[in-house]
This record gives sequence, C-alpha cells and structure tokens, in this order.
Amino acid sequence: MASEKTDAIMIRIVDFSESSCIATMFTRDFGKIGVMVKGARRPKSPFESAIDLLTESRIVFIHKSSDSLDLLTEAKLARRFRAATRSLPHLYAGYYLAELLDALTHVGDPHPDLYELARETVIQLDELHDPLSLVIRFELNLLRLLGQKPSFENCTLCGGEIPQQPRVPFGQLSGGVLCGKCRVGQSRVISLSWGVLEAMRLFSVCDTPLPAVDPMVLGELRGVLNNYMANIMGRRPRMQKLLSILGRPTTIRDDALSLLRKAEAQVSMKQDISKTDETDKDVLNESTFSQNN
Ligand SMILES: [Zn+2]
Repeated sequence: MASEKTDAIMIRIVDFSESSCIATMFTRDFGKIGVMVKGARRPKSPFESAIDLLTESRIVFIHKSSDSLDLLTEAKLARRFRAATRSLPHLYAGYYLAELLDALTHVGDPHPDLYELARETVIQLDELHDPLSLVIRFELNLLRLLGQKPSFENCTLCGGEIPQQPRVPFGQLSGGVLCGKCRVGQSRVISLSWGVLEAMRLFSVCDTPLPAVDPMVLGELRGVLNNYMANIMGRRPRMQKLLSILGRPTTIRDDALSLLRKAEAQVSMKQDISKTDETDKDVLNESTFSQNN
C-alpha cells in the first residue's frame, strides 16, 4: 500500500455513512480514482472544504489493491468552484463537465493533458466566461484527448475531402462527416450546416481565446453534440437536459435563483449518483464497502 501525492479535482461525492463519504476524483497523475474519505461529514473535518464538487486540492491517498477503494488521508484545498454561488448556467456547465469526466475516463488511466484542460475550463467558468462556448470547447477537446473526436474534415469512411457546401451529411454511427458516395445506405445520418463544421474546427483548439460564434450556430452545434455524447456514453448525460439554459445571458433573476437551484441540483444529483449503474462498478462495489467499513 503506497502513499501517493497528486493534484485532484472533485467530480463526484456519495455519502457512505453518517461520517464518511466516497469521493471520485480526477487526478493529474493517476487519472480517475475512487477514495474513501473517513470523517468527511463530521463537523470540523480536516477535509471539509475540499469535499465539494469541482474544488481542486493537493491530496495524499493510500493506494490499495485493485479491488478496494483507495483511502484519502490529506486534502489541501487549492481552489474552490466559486461560480456555484454566482451563476446558474456556470454551475450547470461545471456539473456537466464533472459528469463527463466521470463517465468517459477510467480508474487509474492518467491523462495529464485532460486534467489541465478540465482545470482551465473550471477556472474560466469561475471567471464567468461564456458557459456554452466553454462546454463545447471542453467536450471537443475531451473527445480529441480520449481518441473519440468526431471527424469533421474528411469523410469518416473513405477519407475523401468534403468540398464546401451549404449542408453536409454527418453519420451519428460512423462518428463524422460523409461524402456523397459513402452517405448512401447509411442510417442515422443528420445534415449539418457548413457553419457548424467551421465552429467545430474553431472549438477543437484549446490554447487560443474562445472563438466568437453566431448563437444560432452554437445552438445547432449543441444539438449535434448532445446526440454525439449520448451515442458515445450509451445514455443521455444526466445534466444534459439542463444545458439548454447555457445559451441565455445570466440575469439577476438567474442569480437570485441560483442558490436555491444549486441546492436542488445537488440533492437530485446525489439521488442519481446513489443509484450505482454499470459504469460505476469499478469504483463502487459491495466488497469494497464491506472491506472499508
Ligand atoms: Zn466517403
């Protein structure tokens, strides 16, 4: 049992007992980890401020054998997710980011570049940059770093160049654009405007300022990505239905409602995540619970 140190972003918290919780964290050096946090829910817990969604901490944990949860022994808060108390769209965008990281990465599979992307995106959400653009850029670069990026330059099937045209066929199953020949006989093909393909190219670069894209095009791109992410995950992300508010400007009313909605979203998210599904079995399983309890 080795003691390990790394930076970590909190992506999921499940209450385990009256005093403890199980945290899923996305770390810089070890990828996703599941840790038991003993005493996390006690008043004056040493972990208190670090056990909150999307906070970033410097952690120390004990790496256990493959079939049991790791144990968190130290967490020094580096940064809180402050957007949570200031803007509902930014809060939802952050929760969606956490859900994608949890669903699409594997335990113990490090992606330092993805860690940096997630960290930067959370910081920019905190600075209240446009949440819709931030989410789209995060999704496209997450897919690129995980080798699942949709093909939007050449035909997915034959590799042929796609000439500029008002609308281009996009195969939901093949995961990218199709030339006229390859489109024949394909099912689940939608038609994308050239503007959406251009926007995908712009958002696939992550080290430049956020591109300014027409809101209509952003809306169409959001629809395409909703379906694409659902295809890859094999289900609709839980937070996806709440993304429709991202395109709206933040209003005073949103701000007034944000504290209330935050509490509601946290309750419903906790209820959702307590229903362990297939993909969670590597992190949460019965034998692990009994060994640690
Ligand atoms: Zn083709």
